[in-house]
Order: sequence, then structure tokens, then C-alpha cells
Amino acid sequence: MDRITILKLGGSAITDKARDCTPDIPTIQHAADQLADYRRPLVLIHGGGSYAHPFVTRSGLGGGLRDRSQLRSISETEFYLGQLTRIICASLLLRNRLPVPLHPMSFAILDKGEVKKILLDPIRNSLDAGLIPLLHGDLVFDESRRIGVLSGDRIASLIGSKLGASRVLFGCDVDGVYSANPKSFPNATLIPKVTSENFQPVLSASRSPSTDATGGMGEKVKQALRLAKNGCECYIFNLREKNALRRILEQDGAIGTRFVPWKKSRRSAKQSPQRA
Ligand code: ADP
Repeated sequence: MDRITILKLGGSAITDKARDCTPDIPTIQHAADQLADYRRPLVLIHGGGSYAHPFVTRSGLGGGLRDRSQLRSISETEFYLGQLTRIICASLLLRNRLPVPLHPMSFAILDKGEVKKILLDPIRNSLDAGLIPLLHGDLVFDESRRIGVLSGDRIASLIGSKLGASRVLFGCDVDGVYSANPKSFPNATLIPKVTSENFQPVLSASRSPSTDATGGMGEKVKQALRLAKNGCECYIFNLREKNALRRILEQDGAIGTRFVPWKKSRRSAKQSPQRA
């Protein structure tokens, strides 16, 4: 099988984060358009955006399950996340791409916020069958805190490492990682390439405060670096920009922020050179 590409559809791009449970339909459809002809192994992960963060933040579920008043928020979060999953599934099915939704709450367990167990067989089996596993950032049961948040970015890096993915692409609502948050600092400059030489200031620049339940750009950069250190190429790019995803998939020019692999992964070293 060809090496795997993992694409995270960031909640900042596929939803309107300022309005509860509001999808960004043009962005979802444009992403699906760009995937319509892509035939290599692909794992999709969507963020929760305004379908999850508001419920998790208001109920304090990120800190664990402490009393019964939080239970409703667990149910609501799962219900609304499922709705977003269905919108994405519909967009792909309409273009003859075949996703299967896999909900991390059903196959992962945390302990003190760290992943303790994760069953990868459903993802591997979907890929082997020629389907597109579609996961999402999720609430997951935690052995110490009873419940916790497993972010889409963390899932991307975990699965990327375990499946030996060649590329992990993080789509969001900005063009990549900037010297400072571009929404607060319009003069901030885009960092086109992150290597083992320049990663430290990039990590610091991405750590601005976030209202998200999952750590914002800082967490994304941390996970991309974790992958790059293990030999996986990553991109943080703007999913709302016309054809940016297509260009990355086709390796057509410089887009977004590219995290250069620090070392060649063992599997790609064994294979003959090919486009990932
Ligand atoms: P997603 O929900 O798609 O995973 P996030 O909201 O977590 O994305 O992260 C994207 C946001 O990070 C952007 O909207 C941007 O405002 C913010 N951000 C903070 N610091 C930076 C930075 N240095 N460069 C780029 N974006 C940044």
C-alpha cells in the first residue's frame, strides 16, 4: 500500500467558531472537491470547532467529570460532533469518495489526559478496504479524571506515528504559522519552513493564549514537531484558501508552513523514492 496521508480538517476552518454549531459549508465542499480525485490512502480527522468547544469549555469537561450536571454536556457534545461528521460524510459521498466515521470515544482510553489505549484496527481495516476513515477530536473516557479531551491534532500525530504516515496536513483558517498570531498582529510574518534548526522560536510564537479546549496553534505546532522529529513531513496551511489542499497533495510549490522531517523514517528509507 502507498504511504498514508493524514489530513486534519481544522475546526477553525470548517466551522464558524464565533457561532455555536455553525458549519462553514463552502470550506467543507471545497475540501471535498479537492479530495474528489485523490486515490491514495487517506485518513481524515475533523476538529470540533463550534460543534464541541463551546460545550466543553462551558461545562469544564476539559478538567474531568466531577458532577452529574456535566453529563448533559457530554451527550450534547457527542450529538453535535456527530452532526458535523455527517455533513463532511455527505460532502464526500456526493463526490464518490467513501468515508467511514470512527468515533475516538469508542476506541481510545485516556489516563490523566494521556492516551492509555487506542485500537487502530478499525482504521487499518478501513484503509485496507479502500475506505476513508473519518475521525474527529473527541471527548474520551479517562481512567483518572473520568472524561477528557483528545484533540484532533493529538490524534493526527498519534495515528501518524503509529501508522507510519508519510505526511500529516493540518488545515486551519490562517496561512500557516506566523511570527505572532496574525489576527492580533497584522504585521506578523509567515514562517514558510520549520527545521531542526529554527523550531524553538516557532514554538514560542505559536503559544499565544487560546480560548479553545484543545490548545490552539501552540498544540498544533507541538504535534507537527513531534511528527517531524520522527521523519514525517507536516504542513500547517489555510484550508479556506483556494486549491491550497490540492497543491499540497500534488506537491505543487510552497504552501503554508512546512515542517521538514528531521530524520528519514525507516520505512521511507527502505522504499524507492516516490511521491508520498
Ligand atoms: P483549529 O481549530 O483549526 O485546529 P486553532 O484555532 O486551534 O485551529 O488554531 C488556529 C488559530 O491559531 C488561528 O485562527 C490563529 O488566530 C491562531 N494563532 C495563534 N498564534 C498563531 C501564530 N503564531 N501563527 C498562526 N496562527 C496563530
